[in-house]
Amino acid sequence: MNYIIATHNMKKRNELARILEPLGVSVLTAEQAGVELTDVEETGETFEENARLKSQSGCKESGLPCIADDSGLMVDALGGEPGVYSARYAGEHGNDPKNNALLLEKLKNVPDEQRTARFVCTVCCTYPDGREIVVTGKCEGKIGYEPKGEGGFGYDPVFMVGDKSFAELTSEEKDKISHRGNALKALAEALAKETVK
Ligand code: IMP
Repeated sequence: MNYIIATHNMKKRNELARILEPLGVSVLTAEQAGVELTDVEETGETFEENARLKSQSGCKESGLPCIADDSGLMVDALGGEPGVYSARYAGEHGNDPKNNALLLEKLKNVPDEQRTARFVCTVCCTYPDGREIVVTGKCEGKIGYEPKGEGGFGYDPVFMVGDKSFAELTSEEKDKISHRGNALKALAEALAKETVK
């Protein structure tokens, strides 16, 4: 069965396909499926609500089972911020350098042991008959003191796992431990069960 992915973020879309395809799940972008998906406003207060809004809309518009994710960073010393506001933390959607600078500024007086954080990713798959799968993956780490590394996107340069930032890992290394990798492994298992029904 073909699944459509509802995201306009190219890096995220490639990451989703890279993880799901080796697991035998065939994923199409909206362009490949020949449909145009409306940009859904992320008005939910949780990752789950936002993922559901996007997958329900994509499923309705394409007529195909639709996979959507919502993800972000939760920093303990900031009460879980930036959370669902991760992409627009510094005001402008998707301005990664500004978001990272704001986060480092807010944490400038926070000692090492209190810089704990996690990336969270919730994936929702909605089927045309109304069935739904929801899974969540997490990755624990710490916020560093300065951006490090050239890879990845978003908060990768400031998210430390051990002595390396996410941006210093290869894509394969990141997929193995990342919130999205963990969510998608759970999704692939759940999808395998749905498709044999
Ligand atoms: P979404 O597109 O609404 O899921 O927004 C997620 C935002 O969270 C992104 O724009 C990034 O700022 C951040 N984010 C989510 N996953 C990652 C990741 O794997 N690395 C770095 N930042 C991430």
